[in-house]
Amino acid sequence: MNYQNTLDFAIQLDKQDPLKDFRSKFLVPKHNGNDAIYLCGNSLGLQPITAQQYINDQFTNWKHLAIEGFFTGNDPWLSYHKKLTNTLSGIVGAKSEEVTIMNSLTVNLHLLMVSFYRPTNKRFKIIMEGGAFPSDQYAIVSQVRFHGYDPKETIIEIFPRGGEDTLRTEDIIDTINQHADELALVLFGGINYYTGQYFNLEAITKATHEAGAYAGFDLAHAAGNVIVKLHDWGVDFACWCSYKYMNSGPGGISGIFVHEKHFTDTTLNRFAGWWGHREDKRFLMPHDFEAERGAAGWQLSTSPIMLLALHKAALDIFEQAGGLVPLREKSELLTGYLEFLINGINEDKNDELFKIITPKNITDRGCQLSIVCKQNAKATFNYLTENGIIGDWREPNVIRLSPVPLYNSFKQVFEAARILADSVRD
Ligand SMILES: *Cc1c(COP(=O)(O)O)cnc(C)c1O
Repeated sequence: MNYQNTLDFAIQLDKQDPLKDFRSKFLVPKHNGNDAIYLCGNSLGLQPITAQQYINDQFTNWKHLAIEGFFTGNDPWLSYHKKLTNTLSGIVGAKSEEVTIMNSLTVNLHLLMVSFYRPTNKRFKIIMEGGAFPSDQYAIVSQVRFHGYDPKETIIEIFPRGGEDTLRTEDIIDTINQHADELALVLFGGINYYTGQYFNLEAITKATHEAGAYAGFDLAHAAGNVIVKLHDWGVDFACWCSYKYMNSGPGGISGIFVHEKHFTDTTLNRFAGWWGHREDKRFLMPHDFEAERGAAGWQLSTSPIMLLALHKAALDIFEQAGGLVPLREKSELLTGYLEFLINGINEDKNDELFKIITPKNITDRGCQLSIVCKQNAKATFNYLTENGIIGDWREPNVIRLSPVPLYNSFKQVFEAARILADSVRD
């Protein structure tokens, strides 16, 4: 696309945007009486207008049906989650049975490590990205300790080369090969929260399997953002939250993926609960646990229907939009436009005032651009906020801006870049 730095051009792109009406399906915070320009879907997606109704429907079911709500009504609670797994499995490129919805993200990371991190004295190492989201770091270190290993000798973190901001796939694969004999698990983010780099999950999975280890991914920043093909890539397991690009509410419910090749593996450990028991026999209250086939066998507890209702409100919008392919098509253009405009500011100033550390290659990123501010970083961020641009701040000098195809427009991206340019006007 040959972008132009004019308002008319941005408005033209909005006119041609087949998803332009989806914006009206969301509630947008106000700034001085007008809609703020919300570029923070990487942290918390906006509220679907329908969310309240979906919750109210369940209040009504609870009121009229009480315990019978599990078995009767329009959407019996016992199987409510199954109404979501079709859409959700499409979003992460999985078969329906490979996906279930339960708990929150860090909890699921632990539960999946119970199954897929089984260190032996020969194979005990874990490879992860350096600078991972802290919760992942804490989860991995605590699992390693739980198994009686020393995190320092067990966890290998991969960092960018000197002078570089993101990882090279070849370096990830070299590290996997180098530790192949002792490797138990490779556990990466799908997209790094800080840099916005989308890792090559397919290549990482392939190299991991050749080394004889399991490959798992935390897709918090990838699910609902980029095209992911968990099944076809042979990924062993994955988990994600629903409140970032999937707009399902603060602290919203999490999803997990377990590849079908593991469904019959009876050697896998798991922490079991009654909701994961074979569904047809669950209410016979048997003494011995027998796992339901598929990812559903990892469930522990009664489904939290209110959280599922929020998630359903949001996933129904993905369904109406035609899934991730059209969203991603717009997203590439939208983020590309923001990149073009920011580079334009640098060119005007003859200085790289705003250095984008997110990869330039669109296959190596999602919505988000992470921008290092060379001067007055915090003041620049505050200026954006004062002018109704909601992004987010990461110490020491990074602003993350994420145009989201469901609810952001090209005009908003143009406005955001104009205000960023204003912030450095002499
Ligand atoms: C957002 C995020 C989390 C948050 O985990 P919760 O358990 O939902 O609080 C964890 N890991 C990554 C990579 C994230 O981006």
